[in-house]
Amino acid sequence: MTASPTPQSVLPQHGPLGLLIGGKQVPALSGRTFPTVNPATGHEIAQLAEGGAADVDLAVAAARRAFDGGWSRWTPTQRQALLMRIAALIDERFDDLALLETLDMGAPLTRTRALREPIRQMILFFAAQALSIRGETLQNSLPLNIQSMTIRAPVGVVAGIIPWNGPLISQWWVLGGVLATGCTAVIKPAEDASLSVLRVVELLHEAGMPEGVVNVVTGHGHVAGEALARHPGVDRIAFTGSTATGRRIVEASTVGMKKLQLELGGKSPDIVFADADLDKAVPGAAMAVFTNSGQVCYAGTRLFVQRRIQDEFVARLTEFTRTLRMGNGLDPSVQLGPLISGRQLDRVMGYVQGAPAEGARLAIGGERLGGDLAGGYFVAPTIFADVSNDMRIAREEIFGPVISVIPFDDADDALRMANDTEYGLGGAVWTRDVSTMYRMVNGLRTGTLWVNCYGAVDPVVGFGGIKNSGYGAKGGSDHLDLYLYRKAVYVNIG
Ligand code: NAD
Repeated sequence: MTASPTPQSVLPQHGPLGLLIGGKQVPALSGRTFPTVNPATGHEIAQLAEGGAADVDLAVAAARRAFDGGWSRWTPTQRQALLMRIAALIDERFDDLALLETLDMGAPLTRTRALREPIRQMILFFAAQALSIRGETLQNSLPLNIQSMTIRAPVGVVAGIIPWNGPLISQWWVLGGVLATGCTAVIKPAEDASLSVLRVVELLHEAGMPEGVVNVVTGHGHVAGEALARHPGVDRIAFTGSTATGRRIVEASTVGMKKLQLELGGKSPDIVFADADLDKAVPGAAMAVFTNSGQVCYAGTRLFVQRRIQDEFVARLTEFTRTLRMGNGLDPSVQLGPLISGRQLDRVMGYVQGAPAEGARLAIGGERLGGDLAGGYFVAPTIFADVSNDMRIAREEIFGPVISVIPFDDADDALRMANDTEYGLGGAVWTRDVSTMYRMVNGLRTGTLWVNCYGAVDPVVGFGGIKNSGYGAKGGSDHLDLYLYRKAVYVNIG
């Protein structure tokens, strides 16, 4: 039996962590580093290499060499076998990875450890995808004796730019697509949470991935991220992050006409009808926002509650919220951790403090936690009632543990307000009535929808957004579209 990992055993011990280029840890060419902190304590836990444009050049060149050097010609079975070895190795080292993620981005061990099975499922999904890439032979009406077919081929170098709210799992949307298809990648993790990406890519090498297939450039978004998105040697971009940065990525993608997969922000509606099973809807609606302390892109932050049950619902929601334990995620009884950074804390508190002036009624929370937790970035789970859909807290993505309860009268009213948003990522309806359910399923303009549950995601089904929440599916049969292109081939056999 292996001993349980400790913070000392999973954190880097000696000097700053390098970039991962061509299978080797290297310092940034500038020699510069920057700190990453544990958001539960505010203490520095590591120094990371501060990658710049010249480092991005090296990483893209390494990815191109790996692509041209034979990796893209691995057979589907070889790629599948690699993914299976990776699944086994990640499973074996999962306790270390979960602890590292908890220390780096604050999510409690209760959450990071629970990601073991979803991550295994994702890797196995991509292992299956490796064998499912197919073109077509097509009849044609050409005058010559020409056979025609389409081939789906790996596109080349993919830039993966990801956020901080859950890299342990979210990196797999890119890694899986790359490894299943024979593409190569340069990953730019978020500056606040890079450690699990660096560690996982080391493990990919340990499992037998050739050098240079996946490279990692840590650093700042507006420098390393921007250089990567604009790089002419990058063929496509998979971006997950805010809508504001997504716009910059779209602009950058004009260099080289790169196709994009964009998973952006959200302000998802969660609609509770009076006939719903409230024993399920109350905890469901609470955790639709409070999970990961509200740092979830599809969090159901606009909680529409039928007016005649608003008071009862808010009272029960408040009771449930009192039972949630927030704290340093190393404590195995903690359910909710801190926000990622002081900057994010200030942003969330700005929304919370501004809401009463607009007429929102604070039901619970609304403060930063002090005492033993004063050094970290903890905001108490917060509920505002009597919110209207035009208040700032109902329109803008807060990305913190803040629920806005918005009363509605009937299904028309709920649909009108739910769709009145710039976003279209997630959403849910809680009802026992089948016709109400279908009315909402058909009427809501959102890329992902849950009925009588919230947040379930299976890679086979996938999820995605519309409007300002982005485009291009994650998971499902369309996922590999970003990593492959379609080649039409005409062969004269006459
Ligand atoms: P962000 O947009 O600030 O950063 C995301 C990534 O982009 C980071 O790696 C960052 O360094 C990089 N970046 C920043 N500026 C850049 C630039 N000019 N060019 C290239 N790269 C740049 O987002 P964040 O604050 O890290 O994450 C929170 C946001 O992510 C929220 O809006 C959330 O909704 C969204 N998100 C969406 C999904 C989804 O699947 N839709 C999932 C998770 C998070």
